[in-house]
Amino acid sequence: MAERLHGIAASPGIAIGPALVHSAVLPEIHNRRVDDVEAEVARLEMAIEATSKRLQELEARAHQGAGSEVAMIFEAHQMFLEDPSFSGEALEIVERDRICSEAAVTQVTDRLATEFEDLGDEYFAARAADLRDIGSQLVRQLLGIGDAGFMHLTEPVVIVANDLTPSETVTIPPGMALAFVTEIGSPTSHTAILARSLGIPAVVGVGSADLTTGDIVAVDGHGGTVWIDPDEATLHSLHARRTAEAQARAQAEAHAHEPARSTDGVQIEVVANIGTTADAERADQAGAEGVGLFRTEFLFIDRGSPPTESEQYETYRRVFEVFGERPVVVRTLDVGGDKNVPGIELGDEMNPFLGKRGIRLTLDEPELFRTQLKALLRAAVGANLKLMFPMVASLSEIEATRAAVDAAKRELDEGGVERAHSFEIGIMIEVPSAAVTADLLAPHVDFFSIGTNDLTQYTLAVDRTNPSVALMADALHPAVLRLIASVIEAAHAHGKWVGLCGELAGDPLAAPVLLGLGLDEWSMNPPAIPLVKERVRTLSADDCKVLAQRCLAATSPEVVRAILGED
Ligand code: PEP
Ligand code: MG
Repeated sequence: MAERLHGIAASPGIAIGPALVHSAVLPEIHNRRVDDVEAEVARLEMAIEATSKRLQELEARAHQGAGSEVAMIFEAHQMFLEDPSFSGEALEIVERDRICSEAAVTQVTDRLATEFEDLGDEYFAARAADLRDIGSQLVRQLLGIGDAGFMHLTEPVVIVANDLTPSETVTIPPGMALAFVTEIGSPTSHTAILARSLGIPAVVGVGSADLTTGDIVAVDGHGGTVWIDPDEATLHSLHARRTAEAQARAQAEAHAHEPARSTDGVQIEVVANIGTTADAERADQAGAEGVGLFRTEFLFIDRGSPPTESEQYETYRRVFEVFGERPVVVRTLDVGGDKNVPGIELGDEMNPFLGKRGIRLTLDEPELFRTQLKALLRAAVGANLKLMFPMVASLSEIEATRAAVDAAKRELDEGGVERAHSFEIGIMIEVPSAAVTADLLAPHVDFFSIGTNDLTQYTLAVDRTNPSVALMADALHPAVLRLIASVIEAAHAHGKWVGLCGELAGDPLAAPVLLGLGLDEWSMNPPAIPLVKERVRTLSADDCKVLAQRCLAATSPEVVRAILGED
């Protein structure tokens, strides 16, 4: 039996090929004494300048390939490099202690990164990783040993690593990474974000991977499984799945811009989840009929302080321009949980996912909230804006957000600033209390959008970022399906429409049950759009209603999956 590793499915697709076990270990650095301190300082200054140039190149390359979200990571690296507490201090150590530059850089990197790591927070752990990345680039520059990237790759490989840094990943020549497998990482880690934006299958958080370069591995980015030296039968079935997937994708893409209508004439709205303006363009090309979830927190991540009203305005404006009259559901800042942003103090929390998150945070930071609302209302002139609030748990939060929207409108009107006048207001249903009381909340909003990623974690008490329970986080659990069913029923009883913007909407396996439950709007990552549309075209909504009832009566997610016909 081939050995199997289980991790978090971070980017869909199947890949089979030789592993490249990547380690960016640097040679041991010794505290070499220098006699000519002035020359050593000049040497370090030159290395800083060269590294800075290289970061600019990487940023430009990311803009062309991986998108602006990745480019922003390099911009942040540049800021770290220029920060006096990093390079300034390294220069000071060389002068004061008369030691070589590589030793000084290593000292500063270790000290600052350890400080970040000791904060015990995922956001700061990621910043520590950024710092170590920059430190190692600078040391490599000093030692003249080139970068730790993948520029040299000439054969396609499955890249296996403890974790991958953005500066390493961006050096991969097109087509040379079949998949990524990392020992650590969460769905929101840099590797996961990058893999999804490049369309490369990825499984992250597999724990210790006992692999050697050259081992044949198979990666299933849908299920989060990695096979080491897979046997003939596994290989055969994965090859078949991969070929079938490629054919199905080609067929679906040919009809991506046509509507998704069931065999008995029920049309659903298929829209996209986006985080950046580059995503908006990708979504448009993939056949999105609008945006069902614009995660605005990406504007706030990987930068020193929150974006200003005019910076936000520019980004929102560009997204609205891509979609013209088509609807764009913009979700206000959703940070907290595993997403922290610089300049916004969350304090120490024992359970961040149950803490100051989403709407709780923005209601507590009125200035931040008003800035975003004003930027949005200004940018949405002539657009089809649907304003959405995350993590709502009770009616009082809807009332408070409506008051904040009114205050933002008033402020713009008093200043004579042009703004959008007609737009819908809705909430995400991702907290069980909101799902259970959807009938009470529906009269107070224009729409609901079900966030199954969080609704699953809160309903099943399964941390969505914890690899050891990742397999339990199944949105097809009957408990989650029952909540979805009752939310749709409650909304429809009040004449409101319901969307779903968690990962479940983009899973073609789930299409029959979602169609049968009467979901109106389906929002997903752009690459899933053609496939889900095509799947819906093969289904009868009437038959799916019957099937959905069977799923609601199922005793486990496994039974639901069997009903839905999973192999
Ligand atoms: C969700 O929770 O399902 C959702 C779409 O929001 P996010 O994944 O951004 O938390
Ligand atoms: Mg959520």
